[in-house]
Amino acid sequence: MSELLTLIRPEIRQLSAYHVADAAGMIKLDAMENPYVWDEGLRAAWLEHLKTVNLNRYPHPHAPAVKAGLRAVMDIPPEMEVMLGNGSDEILQILLMALALPGATVLAVEPCFVMYRFIAKFAGMEYVGVPLNEDFSLHREAILAAIAVHRPAVIFLAEPNNPTGNKYDRETVCAIIEAAPGFVVMDEAYLPFTDGDAMDLLRQYPNVLVMRTLSKVGLAGLRLGLLVGRPDVLGELEKIRLPYNINILSQASAEFALAHYSVFEAQAKHIRAERSRLFEGLSRQPSWTVYPSEANFLLARVPAGRARAIFEGLKAKGILIKILDGAHPLLADCLRFTVGLPEENDAVLAALQGLR
Ligand SMILES: *Cc1c(COP(=O)(O)O)cnc(C)c1O
Repeated sequence: MSELLTLIRPEIRQLSAYHVADAAGMIKLDAMENPYVWDEGLRAAWLEHLKTVNLNRYPHPHAPAVKAGLRAVMDIPPEMEVMLGNGSDEILQILLMALALPGATVLAVEPCFVMYRFIAKFAGMEYVGVPLNEDFSLHREAILAAIAVHRPAVIFLAEPNNPTGNKYDRETVCAIIEAAPGFVVMDEAYLPFTDGDAMDLLRQYPNVLVMRTLSKVGLAGLRLGLLVGRPDVLGELEKIRLPYNINILSQASAEFALAHYSVFEAQAKHIRAERSRLFEGLSRQPSWTVYPSEANFLLARVPAGRARAIFEGLKAKGILIKILDGAHPLLADCLRFTVGLPEENDAVLAALQGLR
């Protein structure tokens, strides 16, 4: 190895890069994107709005119009502050950079969003993953024991969880928050596809933060995530956020999209209806277990040893899903299907017929 590479921290060299599958020309059901494209009228109005942008200027460092737009469509308590990130991934990066004291630990329940572990490693933090129960509910005793041993600086709980699609027992979530010596981040990336949220927990508990994103509701390309929390905490995190992290095109597009948020809410409603239909269809596959989901994807456990063949078979028919077999012991033989357009979901079900 080149001498220069030995300068790179060993924990970074041990990581493998986050892999994104090539989806060119495929029905893309691997990444929880909203499948709907904008109609001509909306697209034209957006381009008109972009004409007002002056690219020679730096963006507004605090994006007040975007924050006002977010407050108008989300139930953000007025006394809470909002921090914006270039996707919620960047918010994780900012938060963990701030918490990365020597020996500081990140705790998450597994299987979960892989970025918690990745970014903990980038920040040089310890990472502890506590397995969920077989039914993907929280293993209360195991989590409380891990909290007592590891004293995590932050715990991540995604509701609904990725890749399992479920939410958790509220009483157990509260017990975790109460036992936590540090922060608890409620990650609500899939909020548009469920009912209820964690803002009451944010109000109730000083150690709770709520993270959201516009990615799953229909703006994955925009890269806009937000963290909601108390002004003193967010004031510290703001010092780490790079001043122009939300570029001027993203700000202008987000302002526009948030002013038309009902379009995305209507799409989310369609996606929820399609989720039920796809659930029925996948559940009819012989010997499949499809897990109930409150997100825009479905997790299915297929007969033992068949996941790879089904994944490859769908791929050969131009459909890209996510194979999770091998990603975590609780995900053995599991596949994840993002809910697509009605015709895309039909294509999945038709293709599966031919794969039996
Ligand atoms: C997709 C996802 C995110 C969103 O990440 P962005 O960087 O905002 O696109 C966050 N948390 C979970 C659990 C996710 O699945």
